[in-house]
Order: sequence, then C-alpha cells, then structure tokens
Amino acid sequence: MNPVFDYRASRGAQIAQVESNVRRISQYEYRVKSQSGDWEYTVIQTEAGWNCSCPDFQFRSVKCKHAIAVELSLQIRRRIENARRVVPLDYQSCLSCGCAEIVKDSLIHNKSGVIQRFLCKGCGDRFSKNLGFEKMRASPESITLAMQVYFGGASLRNTQKALALQGVKVSHVAILKWIRKYVSIMDGYLKDFTPRVGETWRADEMYIKFKGKMQYLFSLMDDETRFWIAQEVADSKERHNPRGLFIAGRNIANRVPETLITDGLPSYRYAWKKDYAWRTTPDKKPVHIREITLEGAVHNNKMERMNGEVRDRERVMRGLKNTDTAIIKGLQIYHNFIRPHEGLNGNTPADRAGIMVEGENKWRTIIQNASHARKETN
Ligand SMILES: [Zn+2]
Ligand SMILES: [Zn+2]
Repeated sequence: MNPVFDYRASRGAQIAQVESNVRRISQYEYRVKSQSGDWEYTVIQTEAGWNCSCPDFQFRSVKCKHAIAVELSLQIRRRIENARRVVPLDYQSCLSCGCAEIVKDSLIHNKSGVIQRFLCKGCGDRFSKNLGFEKMRASPESITLAMQVYFGGASLRNTQKALALQGVKVSHVAILKWIRKYVSIMDGYLKDFTPRVGETWRADEMYIKFKGKMQYLFSLMDDETRFWIAQEVADSKERHNPRGLFIAGRNIANRVPETLITDGLPSYRYAWKKDYAWRTTPDKKPVHIREITLEGAVHNNKMERMNGEVRDRERVMRGLKNTDTAIIKGLQIYHNFIRPHEGLNGNTPADRAGIMVEGENKWRTIIQNASHARKETN
C-alpha cells in the first residue's frame, strides 16, 4: 500500500507559515485568506470542533486546510512565545553574579588593540567586552563578518576580499581557522537545545565533491519549521545505511516523525522500519511516503523549495578541498539559527522550533553565550 500525502495538511501548513494569512477576531473566531489571496474564510471554533465557511468544509464536512492553518498558526505563536531565548550579553551587569556594581579594571594590550577589562565589586570576577574573542588578532566584528559572508555562499577567497574592503588583512587560511574554531564553540553550546520540530520530516541526500571524490551528504529536515535536524556524509548513496542519521535525528529532536518523506532509496525503508515506525499517538499510524522520482525531477512546490535549499548548501560546499565536518556543521548552524527564511516570514527555523537567538549579530550572541557557558563550567 502506498500512503497518500495529506494534501489538506500540506496546504494548511503553507497558509500558516505567513503570519498575515490568519487573522484573529476573537478567541473562537479567525479569518483565513483563501489561497488566491483575494478572499477570506471565517473559521470558528465550536464544541464539536472547527467550522469553516469554505466549500470544502460546507459540502464535505472535513477538516479543511483553513482550520488546519488556524491550529498550526496558534501552535507557532505559542512556540514563539514560549521559546528559549539566547540574548546578547550587555555587560551592564556582572556575567557571573548579575549584580550591577561594575567598575573599570586594567587595560589589556593584545594583537587586536586595547581591551578594557571590568571588575565586579560583588563577586570579584573580571571580564572583558570581547568575551569569546580573547587573544584573537581580529575583532569580533571581522570574525563574524567572515562567517556571515562565507556561509552566505562566498568562497574563502571572496570572503578574504570582502574583509580586505573593510580594511582587514587576513589570509584565507586564517579565515578557515576562525571558522573551525567558532563552529566548534557554537556547536558545543547549541547541541544542548532541543528543537521543537513538527511531525513530518524529510530525508534527502545530495551529491558533493570532496577532493575530487564523490560523496553524499544525507540530511534530515523538519517540514514545518525547516529545521535541519541532522546530517551525515557517506561515500555511496546506495550502500549507505541511514540508521545512524535517523537515530541522531531522534536524539536531537527527542521524538520520531509521524510522517517521513524520502525518495525511493531502499535503505530509507529499512531504517524507517527499524527506527521510526513506532506509534507515538494511539490514533495515528506512522507513515513513510516514498516519492519515487527520476534523478533531479521536480514534481511539486515543496520539493522545489527543498531543492533550492540544497542548492544553497551546494554553493558553499563547492570551494571545499576536503571533508571538513566543521564546514557542514557551520552550514547547519547558519541554516537553523542565523539566516532569516523567506518561507517562514523572515523567521529562522530555530525561531519556529522554539529557540530564539536575539541581537543584531546572531553569530556574536551565540559565541558570547557559548563562551560564557564554558567559563561557568570550567
Ligand atoms: Zn475552510
Ligand atoms: Zn559579580
């Protein structure tokens, strides 16, 4: 039996992604834009469930895409309100004890210039404003700019040129060193957060070339939030066993998907049965949908968007000289936590998954907090 993709659920999710599509009139009444955009349907919550003014509901009395959109947008709002927040450290108060009795301490002279240190009169702790960037020759601004430009799709050499325009002279080898160092610091911190992802996931694999060698990057993505849950690099597409990827996804998200969408690769079927084919809620049976397509064939909107994201990843990978897991980790961090997503109304996948990184420079916010957390545990 080949399970059918739930068309209404997929359309409902699409509508809910754009905030302005669902208007709240009262606690029980909502207006939902029709997909053509020139009409609104009235969705009302009753004791018996949702009621919608659209023909699909009126004539077939099924839960229509508008009711699904209202439910999802309420979920999204709740998740954003209850998100864990990672905020920039403002240095107005002590990072250790929180008290505001901060005075200027000694100056440190290092390669990037002079850095003011501060002393907390409450607990005696000393700290500087470049937390996470101590002993670096370049400023936090230059380092985070390099990461932004590089993961935004530029080659290492073009990243170097972008920095040169800012008056920062640095070799591309040094930039790669920064990237490795800071990706590892960020990853160590971010991996303790559990993304609250949705119930439909996709597994996909893309071809990448490392050192002239053909390799595959396997990924698990959440359909609703676009959160890139887990990844793994393998030598071959057919012989690779994705169980490691699936188990990693389960551990990171702390759940299994109710629906998994993959291509026709037989090993996905096997891993799904072993690791995901469990009933998580009594009334729902887990489903594995295999979209069997020709290589590169695009047959619906959603796949097209996914392929676009794959291409984004490919652009950054192109300049890679060897299998560098730090680069792939960095891409994942950039995708999940940094880059605003057009399809998510300018949110990041992490925002939607309940982890909100704040501040003008999200790289810096994460690095500050990661370094502070490391200091605390040492
Ligand atoms: Zn409707
Ligand atoms: Zn203190």
